[in-house]
Amino acid sequence: MTKVRVRFAPSPTGPLHIGGVRTALYNYLFARKNNGTFILRIEDTDQLRYVPGAEAYIIESLRWFGLLPDEGPEFGGDFGPYRQSERKAIYRQYAEKLVEQGHAYYAFDTPDELDTMREQNSTFKYDNVSRQNLKNSLTLAHDVVETLLSKNQHVAIRLKMPENGTISFDDEIRGHVTFDSNELDDKVILKGDGMPTYHLANIVDDHLMEITHVIRGEEWLSSTAHHVYMYQCMGWNPPSFSHLPLILKPTGQGKLSKRDGAKFGFPVFPLSWDSDHEEDNFTGFREDGFLPDAILNFLVLLGWSPGNDQELFTISEMCVAFGLDKIVKSGARFDIDKARWFNQHYIIHSDNLKLAYLIQNKAIEEGYHVSVEYLSEVCRLMKERVHKTDEIISNARFFFAPPQIYDDATIIKKYKSENKEHLLAIGQNLINNQGDTTEAIIKGYISDLGLKLGDYMPLLRIAVSGSMQGPDLMESITVIGKEECGNRILKAVSYFETLCAV
Ligand code: GLU
Repeated sequence: MTKVRVRFAPSPTGPLHIGGVRTALYNYLFARKNNGTFILRIEDTDQLRYVPGAEAYIIESLRWFGLLPDEGPEFGGDFGPYRQSERKAIYRQYAEKLVEQGHAYYAFDTPDELDTMREQNSTFKYDNVSRQNLKNSLTLAHDVVETLLSKNQHVAIRLKMPENGTISFDDEIRGHVTFDSNELDDKVILKGDGMPTYHLANIVDDHLMEITHVIRGEEWLSSTAHHVYMYQCMGWNPPSFSHLPLILKPTGQGKLSKRDGAKFGFPVFPLSWDSDHEEDNFTGFREDGFLPDAILNFLVLLGWSPGNDQELFTISEMCVAFGLDKIVKSGARFDIDKARWFNQHYIIHSDNLKLAYLIQNKAIEEGYHVSVEYLSEVCRLMKERVHKTDEIISNARFFFAPPQIYDDATIIKKYKSENKEHLLAIGQNLINNQGDTTEAIIKGYISDLGLKLGDYMPLLRIAVSGSMQGPDLMESITVIGKEECGNRILKAVSYFETLCAV
């Protein structure tokens, strides 16, 4: 049986959109499921759209998710190079072969001439009708063509789409797809600068890299007609095609775009991206406090379903359950609340120390210089109470510094002057008694004197943390330190007195 070989083939035109991550994930899972090979190919033939740093970003994103290619730039392999710009010399012979066979032709129209054509006719297409009146090797005399070719200026090669025919293929997701060849334009396959376009480079590389399955976004469906036609002309067997459904905006209307992140207030890119233009700066899922496994779990279900109601999948479970047959045709709505829900689940099930290492930088940035062991204890207490890792710090500042503000409404409701001496005594005991547990000191004092827990716990909590929210108070005090919390209580009592005296 042929060995399954799939590729993720992004163009380095900017940061990798979350839809691209899903494409990478599905390719990765399909390869793992079938003991196949997952290849990363960088499609960087469009020099105008090339963005420095984008390839490094793509690779860093794949590493963050753990979707490591078996072959690719930086990963090696027998089918390289894996950057199309380094394969430039390969493509021309294939374009010229198509010309020799009569399936493609030289087009001498300059970009300016084509622009004028488009200005005069907004629906202008270079196709089997218009090509008959344009400057190309089909219309010009042989000697003129030879002369122009010898000058070698702006000579593009275009695919000669057949007239009055149909081009069809079986898509694993969409079934049988048919295109009317009259509707398809004569795509440029080799540009005047000698660079192939996406279409030529894509099929030549898929063929030479022995790709068996092409799994990519729906936006490439119509190009596939051109690709299938080129495979026919070349006499090559096409790979199988699967076009993934769109990822829709949270409203369910229209495709999720890179600007939707800012608009709806959530990331749409895996990692943060800094650009010279402010509107092109994006915060990533990583920097926003999401865990890679949570995002993968969220993404795998955006377009694929296991056929039952299982929602939680480790990557190994995904590798077993995944199949192209359960990918849906209709668009999948990007529901950020669902992503948060997954993230919460993965945070709760994460190792405390691992979480601590993840948030260590953020703690330092915020000026909290604490040990990773201390952070790990904070994570233990906080992780069930957050949806994102950064909230472990922003929702728990009292673990790092005494509260600056207190919940006045609760203090006014709860505080009575007769509580004062007991609160002070509890504070003092916490400072003096380092031997007993926090619980023994506080609850012991309250029960020994026959006091009511409900009269003291809210006030002690506010004294230590400033508010009524937070993890278990006894455990929090133990983590922060009994002496520190004792001092916080003594200080807070003066505040309570002043507040309630007014
Ligand atoms: N370079 C194309 C992209 O940027 C790849 C499409 C394909 O997978 O064929 O998405």
